[in-house]
Amino acid sequence: MTDRKDEIARNLAQVEERIAAACAAAGRSRDEVTLIVVTKTYPAADVRVLAEFGVRHVAENRDQEAAPKAAECADLPLRWHFVGQLQTNKVRSVVGYADVVQSVDRPRLVTALSKEAVRAGREVGCLIQVALDAGESGRGERGGVAPEGIEELADLVARSEGLRLDGLMTVAPLTGQYAGRQRAAFDRLMDLSTDLRRGHPAATMVSAGMSADLEHAVAAGATHVRVGTAVLGVRPRLG
Ligand SMILES: *Cc1c(COP(=O)(O)O)cnc(C)c1O
Repeated sequence: MTDRKDEIARNLAQVEERIAAACAAAGRSRDEVTLIVVTKTYPAADVRVLAEFGVRHVAENRDQEAAPKAAECADLPLRWHFVGQLQTNKVRSVVGYADVVQSVDRPRLVTALSKEAVRAGREVGCLIQVALDAGESGRGERGGVAPEGIEELADLVARSEGLRLDGLMTVAPLTGQYAGRQRAAFDRLMDLSTDLRRGHPAATMVSAGMSADLEHAVAAGATHVRVGTAVLGVRPRLG
């Protein structure tokens, strides 16, 4: 094995151990949690190695980087998640490879996604990104909609052609009442998911937790964790 392959294998095994331990501690079955490896800033060659080691879900946050990478990896049995702030002018490209867009946070984006999904003859899964630190504007600094805005957006996704409402996503806030309180933040997301599922029973995905806080997310009940650094290493630049 090459050094890089060896490094990824070791990291992946460690992350797998962490997820398994967190599931056991929470009394959850390991298969209730899906690992999504965030591959931003890392090359297609790493994605190939991940697929070889059994990873089936990868995530990217910038279309400019993701589009060519996904094209290079089109032969692999992977599902691509888009997790970054998404401008409407990138939607056509993103719909070309993304199976799930986790950063749905405004009506204009839903309209654009629906139009392009229909045009491409695809069904795109959508998660509403929740900003637990949203200010007066009702929006988070790193994207996301305030909890009060979830229902309207979810209803819009649910009745939009070409889109499938899959659930909720959040990033633990760095500011506001949840700063440094990941478990409380993820518990709040779970409550919001329970509310959402009353009207949309199939929207069961709860995407929360990253390298630093995946245990909190699993404890709270997340169904998907998004892990970059712990699998691929510290990114050379902010991605
Ligand atoms: C980069 C990123 C992650 C992964 O973060 P790590 O700390 O590297 O595990 C998860 N979610 C989103 C939305 C990201 O942009």
